[in-house]
Amino acid sequence: MKVVGAYFLEDKLNIYMFFLSLILSFVCCNLCCADNATLVTQQRQMLHTYVEIKAYGDNASAAIDAAFNEMERVNSLLNNYDPASEISQINNNAGGNAVTISPETVEALQTALKFCKLSGGALDITIGPLVRLWGFTQEIPSMKGAGPDSHEIQKARQLVDYQSLQVLQDMQGGPGTARLAKKGMWVDVGSFSKGYCADKAIAVLKKYGINNALVAAGGTINAIGKKADGSQWKVAVRHPRKEDDFMTFVPLCDASISTSGDYERFYMKNGKRKGHIIDPHTGKPVDRMQSVSVVAASGLESDLLSTTLFVLGPVNGMRLIDSLPGTSALLVSYDGKLGISKKWPVKTVIY
Ligand code: ADP
Ligand code: MG
Repeated sequence: MKVVGAYFLEDKLNIYMFFLSLILSFVCCNLCCADNATLVTQQRQMLHTYVEIKAYGDNASAAIDAAFNEMERVNSLLNNYDPASEISQINNNAGGNAVTISPETVEALQTALKFCKLSGGALDITIGPLVRLWGFTQEIPSMKGAGPDSHEIQKARQLVDYQSLQVLQDMQGGPGTARLAKKGMWVDVGSFSKGYCADKAIAVLKKYGINNALVAAGGTINAIGKKADGSQWKVAVRHPRKEDDFMTFVPLCDASISTSGDYERFYMKNGKRKGHIIDPHTGKPVDRMQSVSVVAASGLESDLLSTTLFVLGPVNGMRLIDSLPGTSALLVSYDGKLGISKKWPVKTVIY
């Protein structure tokens, strides 16, 4: 009996312990869920734009601070308007010696060069001389007089050639060197720096154990995980001609969306809109698109691709995006016609 009693007592204890641990784990879970369910949102003015990070998690505030700092750090390597950046060193040494660059700059440049090649030069990160010629290096873009003549455009075009940017790296993930072949050449990181900085912010958030977050850097938004209620992050895609209107909402999980448009950095000349994305082949601002949104695995890729498709236009752009795995796009041509790629996640789009 004693033995049985002992067993009985032990069983009772076991059951008691079992329920206690169940209650404790329930309380703990609720505590951490409550913590995780608190959404922390912070904004900063940086990268010449407005950056917002939203994150769930115990140490979301500290993680977001660290993510912003990482974005500042990476931007200070890439920013071609900062004379101290690595890209400025490359530009200042164009036609001269190769300069040493960090692994981050190597990664960004090498990926960008891959897309320049893939696009047949529609994307060209040495577009700098044309960006300057058309007045887009100024804080508020503008053009005095009649604008550049064909001779000036031709001269600037001769300095635009991504194949004349050499990026070398001894060891995968290590530092490297970069060199521009001709004096006057100029790397412009506008097509990818925000996307790349957003990727770096996500990497830092993950290091802090954050699994559910959103990083919005100008035209690029990266999302990981989900919202507290288990639903997906949803990102609005702006109507290119109606400032407060949206064309659609895109669910985003462990992916990135970037939008390139003709409605933010532009000026009017003789009744025609001149936007900040330049076709390297004509040397003139692209006038065949209103906007392009691209979904891809990383911010670097979506940012590069949205600019690429903007230059390629509706037909060639659609062909390229449909040929790439894991990417999709929504295109609006200059006359307001919609193009929805095969893998674009939502079919309801209102223009
Ligand atoms: P945003 O500045 O809104 O992120 P994009 O990602 O589309 O817009 O990049 C546009 C920027 O890319 C321009 O402001 C310019 O700095 C640069 N750029 C313009 N034309 C080209 C091009 N053909 N190839 C690569 N970069 C370009
Ligand atoms: Mg871009």
